[in-house]
Amino acid sequence: MSKIARQQSTHLPPDTRRTNFNEVVCGYTETEALTESGRCLQCKDPLCTSGCPVRINIKGFINFVSKKDYKGAYKTITEANLFPSICGRVCPQDRQCEAACILGKKHEPVSIGLLERFVGDMAQQNGWQETRPIVPINRTAAIIGSGPAGLACAYDLAKAGVSVVVFEALHLPGGVLTYGIPEFRLPKERVFKEIENLTRLGVTIETNRVIGRIHTIEDLMGRLSFDVVFIGTGAGYPKNLGIKGDALNGVMSANEFLTRVNLMRGFDFPRYGTPVGMGKNVAVIGCGNTAIDSARTALRLGPENVYIVYRRTLEESPARKEEIRHAIEEGVQFICLTESKEIISDNEGWAKGMNCVQKDETGSSEFLLNVDTVIYALGTMANPIIARTTPELTIDKAGYIETNKENMITSIQGVFAGGDITRSGGAFTTVIHAMSTGRRAAKGMLEYLEAVIAANGRPPKFRG
Ligand code: FAD
Ligand code: SF4
Repeated sequence: MSKIARQQSTHLPPDTRRTNFNEVVCGYTETEALTESGRCLQCKDPLCTSGCPVRINIKGFINFVSKKDYKGAYKTITEANLFPSICGRVCPQDRQCEAACILGKKHEPVSIGLLERFVGDMAQQNGWQETRPIVPINRTAAIIGSGPAGLACAYDLAKAGVSVVVFEALHLPGGVLTYGIPEFRLPKERVFKEIENLTRLGVTIETNRVIGRIHTIEDLMGRLSFDVVFIGTGAGYPKNLGIKGDALNGVMSANEFLTRVNLMRGFDFPRYGTPVGMGKNVAVIGCGNTAIDSARTALRLGPENVYIVYRRTLEESPARKEEIRHAIEEGVQFICLTESKEIISDNEGWAKGMNCVQKDETGSSEFLLNVDTVIYALGTMANPIIARTTPELTIDKAGYIETNKENMITSIQGVFAGGDITRSGGAFTTVIHAMSTGRRAAKGMLEYLEAVIAANGRPPKFRG
């Protein structure tokens, strides 16, 4: 058993980081990465890989790191995952690969995420890319949405020789990686460099293309002659509480808030033209990743107090544990076991307070929280645009697209779906989970192309 302690990465001190958007976790130095890789037991039957939704050969890549063969490590990771810099930073490793690490039973698990990030960043610094001979197979795929699900699907299809076009509604690709997760946790430069590897493989990404508005799925498979389609549109539709005061000025959804700050670079206003409109006392309602990101982002915009108001206990929060710790260190105040009942208005239609009820085993108490900004981070919903323009698509009551589990096929021949627009993630919707569904769909799409084309010459025209 390893006697070496788990290597901790340097972090920016809380007082410094709450004043800027610089990355909080600095990542391993080479010495730290080598020491950490030396902790891996190189188990005969490793369990860590089964904890990774895309099944990275973790033992294999860590072995390469320990021998300083970083390129070998990169090649091993990218067999399964083109985004090591991203996943190393945002995966909830404590619930996935690291939770399965055998060393973790008696000691601390190997820091798989930080090692993966080290390799991904090293590849970016050295301009390594995923290169492999690609044999075109004269087939075309349209991917709707450039989040992790769509991009992972595009990667596997491109490797198999399919010509892939990704249609993205926003002006930049990446989905939540770009518009949702803040710069201090996931620098956008890292995201775009990893996406560049995909375009180098020949994948075309067309931004500012809202499918459902400019083309329907029927157009894609008919007039535009795509053989297969993947829907990876995420679940970015905001949810509110439906309480009195929801529509007041100063009340907004986390999606709107984070998009303003991340995508429109509102944190750099007035250099960039998008103001964010932050008050002095901010309440974020909810306690998942989105809520923690919203609270920490709000804190960096200079209010006096930022609260997280959560109806459960902190232990029950689905957010990454590390982010909760960071939020506490930075000064976010948690008010748990508390429900928001009403947002109170001033005379001019702006929020000026929130009535709350706190409940514990001894009973319940009401109080007024003095806040002028309220951010809803209550989870999201499926955007209805694709389903509305494609009535043949079977959706569930809440608007999520129904697929089978094995290959993510929808009710329409040749149309597949994955990521947050399906319910595939269950209670935990994560980047790597979305990627694993994108990969499963790509496998299904390739099988479909092979089978249908073998029988018909070309896939049939659109048929629901
Ligand atoms: P998305 O990432 O939502 O991407 C969908 C894309 O489709 C978007 O770019 C959207 O613009 C585009 N689109 C939508 N409709 C159309 C259309 N009609 N035409 C064309 N394009 C369209 N997970 C983690 O693992 N770790 C974390 O730390 C983490 N933090 C998070 C923080 C926040 C703030 C949020 C919101 C989520 C977080 N998650 C995290 C969850 C994770 O980001 C999502 O589960 C994942 O991004 C889902 O991927 P996706 O590809 O399904 O959708
Ligand atoms: Fe762990 Fe995520 Fe990397 Fe898989 S992709 S090994 S779950 S950090």
